[in-house]
Amino acid sequence: MKDSILDRQDYTEKAYRCQYLIVGTGAGGSVAGALLAERGRDVIFLEEGGYFPTESYTSDISAMTAQLYRNRGVFPLLGKPSIALAEGCCVGGGTVINGALICHTPSWVLDEWQNDYGLKGYGLNELKKYFETVERDLHVVRHEIEENGNLDSMKLLKASEELGWKCDMATRAVNDCKNGNSCPTGCISGAKQSALVTYLPRALNNGARIFSRCRAVRIIHSGGKARKIIVRVMGGGPKRIEISFDHLVVAGGAVQTPHLLRRSGISGLAGRNLQFHMNLKVVARFKDRLNAEQGTMFTVQMQEFDREGLLIMASNIKRHYVAMTLSQHTNEEINSVLSNYENLGIFTAMIRPKSVAHISSRFGDQPLVTYRFDPDDLSMIKLALRRTAKLLFQAGAIELYMPVTGAGKIRSLPELEQTLDRVRPENLEIVTVHIMASCPMGTDPAVSAVNPDGKLWKMDNILVTDASVLPSSIGKNPQGTIMAFAHEIINRHV
Ligand SMILES: Cc1cc2nc3c(=O)[nH]c(=O)nc-3n(C[C@H](O)[C@H](O)[C@H](O)COP(=O)(O)OP(=O)(O)OC[C@H]3O[C@@H](n4cnc5c(N)ncnc54)[C@H](O)[C@@H]3O)c2cc1C
Repeated sequence: MKDSILDRQDYTEKAYRCQYLIVGTGAGGSVAGALLAERGRDVIFLEEGGYFPTESYTSDISAMTAQLYRNRGVFPLLGKPSIALAEGCCVGGGTVINGALICHTPSWVLDEWQNDYGLKGYGLNELKKYFETVERDLHVVRHEIEENGNLDSMKLLKASEELGWKCDMATRAVNDCKNGNSCPTGCISGAKQSALVTYLPRALNNGARIFSRCRAVRIIHSGGKARKIIVRVMGGGPKRIEISFDHLVVAGGAVQTPHLLRRSGISGLAGRNLQFHMNLKVVARFKDRLNAEQGTMFTVQMQEFDREGLLIMASNIKRHYVAMTLSQHTNEEINSVLSNYENLGIFTAMIRPKSVAHISSRFGDQPLVTYRFDPDDLSMIKLALRRTAKLLFQAGAIELYMPVTGAGKIRSLPELEQTLDRVRPENLEIVTVHIMASCPMGTDPAVSAVNPDGKLWKMDNILVTDASVLPSSIGKNPQGTIMAFAHEIINRHV
């Protein structure tokens, strides 16, 4: 596999050629490239990030974050409040650093897409075969109830049962998960079935090549056809190469895909309507010890309110992450909370907000992403925090630290209400790891960027196969949906 993955010293030619050029090796790009290579097509993947195999992963959080994430882990969605977006930037993309939770698209979201965007062929019945394929390819298994590990998740499960709230064991893409607690910085045991160990090796075994540390900066096109791409080789001084192709598949993720299209003067609609989920992180201190580091993230999911767009899960925990999550608290508070580290858990309430972002590509190499906080999201966030607090107190938490600047510790639901009465959007700490819908698929070129075959309107030979093409945010972990769409798009194409 290593021989087919090129790095900066390997680009000795100025120009290359292939039948299919795929920009991005993440969830959507890896599936597209694997299917095309298996059908005998000559495929090159371009990947801006480097190649880091499992053996190179360490427990050094800052070093791994610098290697595997875009901009060392933080990219702002500018607004009030600004939101920190975390995105993978390495061979395998987001699948290398994600929680490996694989979900089906909710049926009500697929219905919305059929009714509002005219999508035919993407209903639950049609996508079912792809969900099954992805589950087989990624060895998706249901996490089992445990007695001695993942106690943060187990507490969520028990408390949900007591409240009569639906809560399920998660289905994750792991093969013999060792609970190494390192999902967001690369799975040290190699258990996580990321694209790096599944779809990409399949593509390489069928002749594909990966050009790593290569950023696509501009698509050269004429007469409604993309002709070649200009590539900047990252690091080690200025170096540019060009790659020509018959077909281009763009899968750089929901910010970078529209940015590349806009910079190349293609598709004015791309990037106008970026949607995302909001993650609200709550640190909880329990009376008894959880030793939550002995476990891993997202092993159960509280889904009682999923139709309203709310999910609650236990997140990955390390001292470093607790300190980061509490960054809006005082030093004394952070030290005091950390002195009870064994009793802590970090929990994520994920919501499907109405706020929408816009990508601007006029300011040089990097996109600028801005969003307007939709007033309805404040009530949704308050409701999410209320429900999370109720669940965590039920689970035995004695103190909660909310993602609200100046909130201090919360010891009861009435105390939380006092905080929520005062909260304004700019006091909230919000992160996001799920972005989508920036090149929505649809039947009307006035409101969609790609047609139902995944082809960019008015361009003969450009497909988009990443999170960008989902017509809207889905209120669930999106990797399974992205991969199912990529399967359908490539199957329609060849
Ligand atoms: C910490 C974290 C946890 C998550 N947990 C889950 C989870 O448990 N379950 C789930 O379903 N989802 C999860 N996600 C989200 C999921 O990983 C993403 O939705 C998914 O990876 C997006 O797929 P994609 O193909 O759109 O883009 P990506 O997977 O992000 O891949 C895009 C790739 O393209 C490359 N690229 C971008 N621009 C260029 C360019 N111009 N030239 C060359 N290369 C380029 C990028 O470097 C990147 O490697 C998580 C994400 C994060 C960050």
